[in-house]
Amino acid sequence: MDMGLGGKVAVITGGSIGIGLAVAKGLAAEGAHIFLVARDAARLEAARADVAASAKVRVAALACDVATAEGCAAAVAAVEKEFGGADILLNNAGTGSNETIMEAPDSKWQYYWDLHVMAATRLARGLVPSMKARGGGVILNNASICAAQPLWYEPIYNVTKAALVMLSKTMATEFIKDNIRVNAINPGFVLTPDWIKTAKQLTADSGGDWKGYIDNLAKENAPIARFASPEEIADFFVFLCSARASYSVGSTYFVDGGMLKTV
Ligand code: NDP
Repeated sequence: MDMGLGGKVAVITGGSIGIGLAVAKGLAAEGAHIFLVARDAARLEAARADVAASAKVRVAALACDVATAEGCAAAVAAVEKEFGGADILLNNAGTGSNETIMEAPDSKWQYYWDLHVMAATRLARGLVPSMKARGGGVILNNASICAAQPLWYEPIYNVTKAALVMLSKTMATEFIKDNIRVNAINPGFVLTPDWIKTAKQLTADSGGDWKGYIDNLAKENAPIARFASPEEIADFFVFLCSARASYSVGSTYFVDGGMLKTV
């Protein structure tokens, strides 16, 4: 199947590890040039080299914080300088939280709002003009199953990811006139290095069976009874970025092994 991704420029936030890195490799394999964004410069450069070694495409990166207006502006300027604009934007940078509504300070709410909602808004504002000039584009927002089915211990994550899903819907309505398709994806459990680190920490005092912890979590929550690999999730992202998904606009797709408990 020709995905129509050859020569496109894809900007991926949080592209240095996990789902973002897997999507970067998936898009590069289809011939797209890649621009990666994350904060940790050393890890980002390792990812940039890794993607560049995996396909014959141009791969550039900028270390910056997309939870700030300055970081988003720097990313947009660097994309303009390196590639003259973008065709695809994947808003993927994000992270889980752990708090109660009664105890979390306003500053924590503000940080996650900036990271999950304002980053997507600011980067879209910066990159949509070049997408428009290039004849259209794709924006994909990586939310979470928690946007619809909350985990009790992370209210701020649940709320800001739900806001990102609504942002996607409203972006889609506003941008489709310029042939820019916007969609959101709600993944379930995806076995990224961060999950492995968390599982190791949580089992350190009880024998260190982190794999058993991961297996049990999956069996308790997802009918498929396992985590996804970043690569199998990435395939779905690549499809939605491709010309083959030309009628997908303003939708939210669950990729969760059956974890969502409603229709
Ligand atoms: P990881 O923790 O593995 O990676 C997060 C990426 O985002 C890293 O590249 C990190 O790099 C970057 N990042 C974080 N904060 C910022 C920031 N302020 N500015 C720029 N970059 C930033 O995450 P996953 O791959 O697991 O998750 C990716 C996305 O998918 C997240 O939005 C997450 O909420 C969502 N998701 C994940 C699920 C899972 O089970 N893994 C399930 C559902 C949704 P650095 O720290 O160097 O900045």
